[in-house]
Amino acid sequence: MGGKDNAIGYFWEAIRKGQVAHFYLFHGEIGRHREQALALAATLNCLKKHTVVQKSDVRDRLYCGECLACRKIFGGCHPDVEFIGPAKSSVGIEQIVSLQKKVSRKPYEGLYQIYVIEEAEKLTLPAANALLVTAEEPSAQTVLILSCVSDGAVLPTLRSRARAVYFSPEDDRLVRDDATGLDPDWEEAWRLSGGNAVLAREAARVGVSVLRNLTEGYETAVNTGDFLRLFALFPLEREVALVWLQVMGASVLEGGRRETSLSDIPFFTSHIPTAIQALQRQADVRLTVEVLALKHMRRLGLWQK
Ligand SMILES: [Zn+2]
Repeated sequence: MGGKDNAIGYFWEAIRKGQVAHFYLFHGEIGRHREQALALAATLNCLKKHTVVQKSDVRDRLYCGECLACRKIFGGCHPDVEFIGPAKSSVGIEQIVSLQKKVSRKPYEGLYQIYVIEEAEKLTLPAANALLVTAEEPSAQTVLILSCVSDGAVLPTLRSRARAVYFSPEDDRLVRDDATGLDPDWEEAWRLSGGNAVLAREAARVGVSVLRNLTEGYETAVNTGDFLRLFALFPLEREVALVWLQVMGASVLEGGRRETSLSDIPFFTSHIPTAIQALQRQADVRLTVEVLALKHMRRLGLWQK
């Protein structure tokens, strides 16, 4: 294992050599854990695998970012990529048992299934012990990632079986500095994206004010139950709509919005991924957004039919 200074560099160097571990422990600055887990998931499942795409903003990345698998992964709707967090205050045994069932079967559509347990310091003791069994009998097509701030908070037996990847505060800053040239609103893009650097880059590219206007227009229409107000959002490009929906989902999940209609988390976690998937399957952009708004109005009791 390399020094702590460039642990992410070592991590990617190994992946590049095809040395994929089945059990990782991401610790340190948690701001980039999700982004790096998604990048790993994309690397392992990209349909244009082995094609190293050079882009100005990402050096040597190992996925294309454009194929259906990549788009589903970054859109948060790939069936083989799952983030598991504390239910209430802990990650309990029942969550791990359900994870074990999933691990025991093959991936739905990708080559690998990736499970990320976030806030792993909140694993209960029975849950951690159950996880130990899974870690000891890794399935070839599964990658399990524990994500936490301090590796000291994870059971030593579990920690010793994992490949540790340390995220330093410097790495976090580098990503921000890297992208500051894109848009003066980078900080805002970062915030809107819930600290997901991949999405933040996209958001900065589309433009924070564009995204903000879309959200405000959508929100006004939904809150007033005035469907006609939605018309102001169109025409809307597919790529912009995809980024916007992801940003709207991310900021709701981060609790970043005060507005009542947009803090309805169950609504967004169930309907936004559906809308994103529809757009990725080339559904009509306008129709997709209108359907989302109608469901939303109905949920708020503002649309009867
Ligand atoms: Zn791809």
